[in-house]
Amino acid sequence: MKLRKIKDLNLKNKRVFLRADLNVPIKEGKIKDDTRIRALLPTLNYIIERGGMPIIASHLGRPKEKDPSLSLKPVADHLKKLTSRKVHFPQEVVGELVEKAVKEMKEGEILLLENTRFESGEKTQDPEFLKKLRALADVYVNDAFGTAHRAEGTTYGLAFLFEERACGFLIEKEVEMLSQLLKNPQNPYIAILGGAKISDKIEVVENIAEKADVLLIGGGMANTFLKAKGYGVGKSLYEEEMIEKAKEIMEKVEKMGKKLFIPEDLLISYERPAIEVKEVLAKEIPENGIVGDIGSKTCENFKVEISKGKTIFWNGPLGIFEEEKFSKGTFEVAKSLSEVDAFKVVGGGESVMAVEKAGISSKITHISTGGGASLEFLGGKILPALEALIL
Ligand code: ADP
Ligand code: MG
Repeated sequence: MKLRKIKDLNLKNKRVFLRADLNVPIKEGKIKDDTRIRALLPTLNYIIERGGMPIIASHLGRPKEKDPSLSLKPVADHLKKLTSRKVHFPQEVVGELVEKAVKEMKEGEILLLENTRFESGEKTQDPEFLKKLRALADVYVNDAFGTAHRAEGTTYGLAFLFEERACGFLIEKEVEMLSQLLKNPQNPYIAILGGAKISDKIEVVENIAEKADVLLIGGGMANTFLKAKGYGVGKSLYEEEMIEKAKEIMEKVEKMGKKLFIPEDLLISYERPAIEVKEVLAKEIPENGIVGDIGSKTCENFKVEISKGKTIFWNGPLGIFEEEKFSKGTFEVAKSLSEVDAFKVVGGGESVMAVEKAGISSKITHISTGGGASLEFLGGKILPALEALIL
């Protein structure tokens, strides 16, 4: 997939509509984590340095209509602090205030529109709404990878109205890195798959299963595989309707001559949160037991495979790592990932949290912040926002 890139745009004296992902956690007007705002700075600074005037748009949360608690005002204030530049914030997405601010803004200044989801036209891609946005700028840049899997007004429909359009540096990097997993990955390619459910990410599991040489399955997902093998999983989380699918994947992978590991031992408790945990063999999970982590033998096996990897993809914690007693498998795997010399990609909300908690982020080649978008991309879908930017 070849995308139109920001470096190919002429930005001098241009008004640049910049779709960003500034969907940050805000509590009582305070930003709790500004990672996404800081992540935009390379693209934002590039536009300004090239003489462009950025008009930034983002959604925040899921408002049905105008909701003051989901205003981007705190983000505007924070952008001002981070960039030491004037940030216009006209307090609406479209309308006279916006038009006035766009006219008044000067080179070196920034304009941030209000939460795009305050306008119903964002979801419906209303042509009238898009026309008003189109009139504000000369060129379009999208750097919101996290929403690239949603076809909304500012992520999709609007892009086509601009002759001059491109992706920003964040999208460029995500696509470059994730594409390496899909196209000619160096072997051996190890995929570590865990997390809560298979059904959340069946396309990724199937697609990765075809590409990787070794599949290491843990987390709640493994319980469904254990069921498919005919084992009982007690009171653990598993998905009845996915058992057939799990069987199918195991058979297919075997036919292709790949290795698939499901846990041979596990940590269980009899209550949640776990007070006491016990290690059991996969075939001996008690009827009232709850599986919360992979066992020590499984963990060792996983680590041996990981140490041989040249390409490694990890999505999904291997246990209920939020509970200290069930966190060992996830953190041990994180540690062995940090020690191997390979092309390493971690994706998924909780997985990224686990890597950060383990303190090994700097040892990972690429941490994909896209969540759902990363997983859909790896599932083989052409994400709508990217489709709009294909060269
Ligand atoms: P990601 O966000 O990285 O894609 P998921 O959302 O699929 O991952 O799953 C993360 C969650 O899976 C974690 O909150 C963790 O508690 C849960 N989980 C992992 N193993 C188990 C298990 N054995 N039983 C129940 N939940 C589990
Ligand atoms: Mg998650």
